[in-house]
Amino acid sequence: MTWRASVLTLFPAMFPGPLGTSLAGRALERAVWSLEARDIRSFATDRHRTVDDTPFGGGAGMVMRPDIIDAALAGFDDGRPMIYLTPRGRPLSQQRVRALAAGPGAVLLCGRYEGIDERVIAARRLEEVSIGDYILSGGEPAALVLLDACIRLLPGVMGAAESADEESFASFLLEYPHYTRPADWQGHAVPDVLLSGHHGAVAAWRRAEAERITRDRRPDLWSAYQAHHTTGQAGAAAAAPAAP
Ligand code: SAH
Repeated sequence: MTWRASVLTLFPAMFPGPLGTSLAGRALERAVWSLEARDIRSFATDRHRTVDDTPFGGGAGMVMRPDIIDAALAGFDDGRPMIYLTPRGRPLSQQRVRALAAGPGAVLLCGRYEGIDERVIAARRLEEVSIGDYILSGGEPAALVLLDACIRLLPGVMGAAESADEESFASFLLEYPHYTRPADWQGHAVPDVLLSGHHGAVAAWRRAEAERITRDRRPDLWSAYQAHHTTGQAGAAAAAPAAP
């Protein structure tokens, strides 16, 4: 069954954009997923096709009107999660990505200007999702990020060689370092253990490196890893090292 992505945007020409190439592009051609980018402006009702207005209470910038956004969302009210990309949202996680990829698809609302009138977010019970603590000029790049993360998990998109089961975040660990040929590059050798042919030793080294890197860089992930480890729920973490 095709995973359906619908995007509401003032700039439909931004889609599929980078998702028309590589893994996602081939999957789009094979109808593993489908994409409909709908122009919010086509739901405007006045002669000037206005979609925004000045904020009540004053202040800088413009706000997207609730009536226009509501009309744009109406056609997509089919049970798929309706997501508004916004820096105020819950940070996107691999866990949420997995759940979305396992479902029928997603409806993504891209804001512009200062954002969207609060009332339509509440009335439509939009799920608010952020892709990080920084401000984009619009929700479109955020929608592309969310879609990319979901599409690669759809059945048949990634090859076995790129299995998602063992990668960063799957086991609360960041991935271990990778090395390829040449074995000596500008005088820098690769770790001996990787040339040893001992699968057990390689796995142990990779696990130790993944732990070291996670501890150094991401205390938050490290705490989660330790919590799962000590409560005996670290089945995946204990069995498999983080992989690419
Ligand atoms: N005034 C808002 C920012 C508006 S940026 C604030 O301070 O929170 C314009 C639009 O870009 C937003 O409506 C949202 O759709 C999108 N956007 C910006 N940063 C984002 C982020 N980190 N994650 C997801 N969407 C984002």
